[in-house]
Amino acid sequence: MSDESTRGLLTQAVHAGEPRTHPYDALAAPIAQTATYTFADTAELIAYFEGRKTRMEYGRYGNPTVQLVERKVAALEHVDAAVAFASGMAAVTTSILSIVKADSHVVLFADCYRRTRQFVSTFLTRFGVEHTLVAPADVDALERAIRPNTRLIISEAPTNPYQTVVDLDRLSAVAREHRVKTLIDSTFATPVNLRPADHGIDMVVHSATKYFSGHNDVLGGVLAGSAGIVSLVRDLRDVFGGNLDPHAAYLIHRGLKTLPLRVAQQNASALRLATALEAHPRVRQVWYPGLASHPHHETAKRLMRGFGGVVTFELDADLQQVSRFVDACEIPRIAPSLGGAESLIEQPALMSYFELTSAQREEVGIREGLVRYAVGVEDADDLIADVRQALDRAFR
Ligand SMILES: *Cc1c(COP(=O)(O)O)cnc(C)c1O
Repeated sequence: MSDESTRGLLTQAVHAGEPRTHPYDALAAPIAQTATYTFADTAELIAYFEGRKTRMEYGRYGNPTVQLVERKVAALEHVDAAVAFASGMAAVTTSILSIVKADSHVVLFADCYRRTRQFVSTFLTRFGVEHTLVAPADVDALERAIRPNTRLIISEAPTNPYQTVVDLDRLSAVAREHRVKTLIDSTFATPVNLRPADHGIDMVVHSATKYFSGHNDVLGGVLAGSAGIVSLVRDLRDVFGGNLDPHAAYLIHRGLKTLPLRVAQQNASALRLATALEAHPRVRQVWYPGLASHPHHETAKRLMRGFGGVVTFELDADLQQVSRFVDACEIPRIAPSLGGAESLIEQPALMSYFELTSAQREEVGIREGLVRYAVGVEDADDLIADVRQALDRAFR
């Protein structure tokens, strides 16, 4: 058999990690909708526990449909293995807990996913795990923050909403020098645009809710990495029980088959939308790593094969005027999330930062005029025309 790992991304997305034949000669992977697995007799049970037979035991310890997702993600991320979860946050929290212990120290960038930050800064603190927040993408500040008890560096690439892209090669070199593990939440990039493991990152997590499933219809999460790390995280998942359901696994596995096609379209449409917005007189600034104006464009160009489907921009307007623009858009729907077939739009000041006062928002860098546009797979021409008519209507 030829080596799957030398094949192209489109081929891998369709075939990698899947057996050539499924039960019943079905072409599509069946859903193994079962909570447990039967043993023919006691001899088989003993053979299994003595390690002489490899097979399934119980739903929380593994499922064939879930394994299809795990194997495909491992192939796409160029790593040994992966373990799937019920949500992205189950993947993030279980992965972090597999590395830290009391008196450990964690370093994270100030702009990482809000619930990840909350988990580290409020929950882990209760168990004696310390942390330091450093300025987005600032690897020098990160190195200065490392202490003898630092066990883990947590980052994202790109981040939300300003799409900072940290230099992963420098980050992993610093981490290695100090013998600290690295975890990258790669949800925004997907392996189509960036493979953190190729840049020396130890742990790669995804919210499979976003691009992996691709259809805004299911929650899931994945951690990918070396066999050793995945085994550690898997052991903890088997205890915590944040398992991916077989039916959700089926949907994510199906979504993964078209991941490169969808992300290529989203990359192209987002770049066109970002370019059109940058030229519009009502738009103050656009943050898209594919634009030459983005502060991390050079790093993004070096690391990424495409720049993703999320465009953040600031209108020359107050909160209410921005809402008028958002309400005037006829294609994107107002919703949190990203990465699906449908374009989604939101005002970060009202969505993720609703409970803050405008002064507090200013302090964390969330401006009132901000809009986050998560591009779907519609025609870019339609998305651009729609945004133009919405700007005209909002500012008439
Ligand atoms: C959505 C998201 C998560 C959380 O994933 P869930 O599947 O909602 O639990 C984590 N990180 C990033 C970057 C996300 O966009």
